[in-house]
Amino acid sequence: MQKGKIDVTTENIFPIIKKFLYSDHEIFLRELVSNAVDATQKLKTLANIGEFKGELNDLTIKVDVDKKKKTITVSDSGIGMTSEEIDKYINQIAFSSAEDFLEKYKNQANAIIGHFGLGFYSSFMVSDKVEIITKSFKEGSEAIKWTCDGTPEYNLEPAERTERGTTIILHIDDDSKEFLEENKVTELLNKYCRFLPVEIAFGKEKEWKDGKEVELDKLKIVNDTNPLWTRTPSELKEEDYNKFYRDLYPMSEEPLFNIHLNVDYPFNLTGILYFPKIKNNIEIQKNKIQLYCNQVFVTDSVEGIVPEFLTLLHGVIDSPDIPLNVSRSYLQSDSNVKKISSHITKKVADRLNEIFKNDRSQFEKKWDDLKLFIVYGMISEEKFYEKAEKFALLKNTDGKYFTFEEYENLIKENQTDKNKSLIYLYTTNQQEQYSYIEAAKAKGYDVLVMDGQLDTHFINHIEQKFKDSRFTRVDADIIDKLIDKKESGESKLSAEQKEDLSEIFKSQLSDKASYYVSFENMAETDNPVVITQSEFMRRMKDMSAVGGGAMSFYGNLPDSYNLVVNANHPLVTRIAEDVIKKAGTKVTPIREKIKPLEDNKSKLEKSNEKKKEEEIKQEDKDRIADLEKKINELNEKKQKVLTDYAAKNKLVKQLIDLALLSNNMLKGKDLDTFVKRSIELI
Ligand code: ADP
Repeated sequence: MQKGKIDVTTENIFPIIKKFLYSDHEIFLRELVSNAVDATQKLKTLANIGEFKGELNDLTIKVDVDKKKKTITVSDSGIGMTSEEIDKYINQIAFSSAEDFLEKYKNQANAIIGHFGLGFYSSFMVSDKVEIITKSFKEGSEAIKWTCDGTPEYNLEPAERTERGTTIILHIDDDSKEFLEENKVTELLNKYCRFLPVEIAFGKEKEWKDGKEVELDKLKIVNDTNPLWTRTPSELKEEDYNKFYRDLYPMSEEPLFNIHLNVDYPFNLTGILYFPKIKNNIEIQKNKIQLYCNQVFVTDSVEGIVPEFLTLLHGVIDSPDIPLNVSRSYLQSDSNVKKISSHITKKVADRLNEIFKNDRSQFEKKWDDLKLFIVYGMISEEKFYEKAEKFALLKNTDGKYFTFEEYENLIKENQTDKNKSLIYLYTTNQQEQYSYIEAAKAKGYDVLVMDGQLDTHFINHIEQKFKDSRFTRVDADIIDKLIDKKESGESKLSAEQKEDLSEIFKSQLSDKASYYVSFENMAETDNPVVITQSEFMRRMKDMSAVGGGAMSFYGNLPDSYNLVVNANHPLVTRIAEDVIKKAGTKVTPIREKIKPLEDNKSKLEKSNEKKKEEEIKQEDKDRIADLEKKINELNEKKQKVLTDYAAKNKLVKQLIDLALLSNNMLKGKDLDTFVKRSIELI
């Protein structure tokens, strides 16, 4: 019997393994099973090239748990090891600057294991003793048994074993008892070994018989050795892809499309990506891509490996070229990873373009579910934008879809304003902005639906991309100003009438502070009163709602609206005439008194215009102040007269309420009063 000391340059590897590899204990099973797979694959290769001439026989890898003996056993019929190989591969864990490295990657078991090829030694994270019983495939090899109890000392002795291959027996320590549960092992095998290329057996097949579950005398194979992504796309049908998707995500809805990735130059990459239906909350959709390295599961958090927007996709990526066992920050700067990431982006864009070209109606049908993903990609990845601008769609209020180019052609004629800007009209809510949409349509304009989660950002983004173009929400202005084509028309109201009406309308608003009353010379057939919200202010507020940060200044401002009165509407001119009739005798004398006072004041101000504050004579200052006071008093008097008038004029209130109503802004008590007043008026 040979006795020896495991050759490590560090004092003792085992405490390090136990201490630093704390968080990822469960990966020991992945390491052992994938070593067994490697040993089996190597044997197959040797058989193929004629270096192994014996019978391969059954190559199934067996995992067993013995709860009583507290052992987990992994056995294979692979190439096995000779005692020289044990010495070379197991005993000499020679590595340099180990301590520095361990210090740096304390919390990343994967990094350490991968870096040192310590796969096998990860078994000491959960065991207080490990045995290897192995017999090499090489002719004349003797079976040997290696035992180590977690100190650097090991035993190597001859063993009883006639068949080729390796059996690893872990004596599970008291802290790791959870791994002796059948369910736990099943869970781990399912997570890490589900698609390994050699059959892995754990436990027996079971069957329901007479209401009881009975064990059959047949090993249960836990993996699919030939997963879909390793197969040739031309042999696969849509249904195969859908079935694979259901296997991966049993709870998910059918995916929209899939892409089968198959790259062998300049790196190796296979995989299948699915476009899921993306509902409104994008966060919960993320982290569904599984990353494999030669069919061994590595991780399902792929941020940094694929571009942010692609994390919305589902599916698997398998590449031996992604340095999977290193830290995330390292991964992100790795040039291979960068190449892979931009390659996937390109493939995804190409696939979408292909579907768009080959089957546009299909593409349109799925657009609403796909949109968020594509918009996300276009905003965040310039390269993706360049490809997607050819197939990204815009949807209008009639449910028709257009490419950017098609849409530009559609609206060019009718929606260019006097400054030669192309105006894209859009709605964020077809119900609430209904009357504006109707007004725009009546003018022959087209209105886009932009009600998606990212549309505020998207509009800003494409507005910068599109030449000489602007996006304007359909309620941003009165219809004539929405796309400003010419100078405004004649007004039927005099300046004085507007002044009085402005007071009258303002006095009847319940939220006076949020409104600014203005007059526009619209057509007689347009609505008498319209409420608008400036595109700029609204967008700033929308952005602050999604984005926060510097934008939050805008978010804190109160909403502000324009109450636009149509100076040419018959109802408005009727009110103006009625004002003269009912309040004119009171208002006119006041106005006549104000007039000379104002003239006086402005004369005085003018004569002092060029002077500095201290140069103005006190006498003048007093005089101006006095005039101001008188004017204010008179104005207040006039205002009182007009307010009293307005209070009795149901029509004013009715017109305001109708405008509010068509904006879905008439609520509660105001709505109730409106209904009652309407009945009275009828
Ligand atoms: P790695 O697998 O990263 O090389 P390990 O510590 O897991 O590192 O294994 C070290 C070496 O021991 C392997 O490269 C292989 O040569 C040998 N080995 C481990 N397990 C087996 C096995 N089941 N059958 C044959 N050889 C094995």
